[in-house]
Amino acid sequence: MQFMHRAVTHRLRSPFRVAHGVSATRTTVFARLDTPDGPAWGEGALVPYYPYTLNDLTAYLDGIGETFGPKPGAPFDLDAALAAIPDGPAPARCALDLALHDAWGKAAEQPLWSLWGLDPKALPPSSFTLSIPDDLDAYRAELDAVAHLPVLKLKVGTGDADQDIELVRLARGRTDAALGVDANSAWTVDEAVRIVPELAALGGILYVEQPLAWRTPDGLRTSHEAWHRLRERLPDGLPPLLADEAVQGLDDVDGLAGAADGVNVKLTKTGGLAGARRMIDRARAHGMQVLVGCMVETAVGVTAAAHLAPLADFADLDGAVLLDRPAVTGGMVWHNGRMTLPHHPGLGVFTWDSGVWPS
Ligand SMILES: [Mg+2]
Repeated sequence: MQFMHRAVTHRLRSPFRVAHGVSATRTTVFARLDTPDGPAWGEGALVPYYPYTLNDLTAYLDGIGETFGPKPGAPFDLDAALAAIPDGPAPARCALDLALHDAWGKAAEQPLWSLWGLDPKALPPSSFTLSIPDDLDAYRAELDAVAHLPVLKLKVGTGDADQDIELVRLARGRTDAALGVDANSAWTVDEAVRIVPELAALGGILYVEQPLAWRTPDGLRTSHEAWHRLRERLPDGLPPLLADEAVQGLDDVDGLAGAADGVNVKLTKTGGLAGARRMIDRARAHGMQVLVGCMVETAVGVTAAAHLAPLADFADLDGAVLLDRPAVTGGMVWHNGRMTLPHHPGLGVFTWDSGVWPS
């Protein structure tokens, strides 16, 4: 199949601040496979706080060559096609994996969820994410505008534990939504031991995500052991602790079993849908919960992740809602936190009119 790729930088509706830093734009890489059934698409997100550059992703995709995937006319062997993806940066592999899954569904003329035998109606609601505010008055107004949604995810990790608690308290006072709290690696074990019970006491906390540091200042990944220490020091009956940055591979799921209650599965971390399904299976084998999440990305990546939502307890798939304008048409419909999966073959995204690249 004819293969092409392109990096696109997307402007966000408003600057997005998390504990790792602030972004006004985010870049994703797209893969396109021209199949007999039309173009198939994949996407992978460049994440500013993960250890690869745009050059890493494009150099990898440049090396893929102009023909990739099953030969037209031959039976579509998805497993063989996925196995031919070379080792490399996970977001770039993700773009290839998604394009192959999209091509597979188009060849079979079925949506991906149908080929997997999943119920498209059995979806948890998706959270809507509020980033760390610069201004509390603006935050109140933002909260009031989304207070009707079923689940809000609050980014904390301001650098001040009391301020983090205050943001959640402020939200709790203005909405009945279930609240997910994402610290994005901001707290020490001692801080988390103090903060998590205080958050729980506010009520209606759905989960607390990535409380602990992921990397030390010298770039070394922190140990799973810190999570186990935190677990030992927390009382029972708290909201589940979900690991996000701490889970980059299956060995992390194994290492965090018994310490984290669940994992945030993202295609950009697992290198696509096949790896995500393996991570979900591994988490379930340990009795862990599953949140299907996304990065800031278009409907291509978010829709692919949404096809996994019937397998998850929680979903956080508002990545495309955060973009200034939709780069892609079709795909999963996000309406007031409720998701509707497409009934078109493959991923069900149309991408750009006439199939050309966006500017
Ligand atoms: Mg997270």
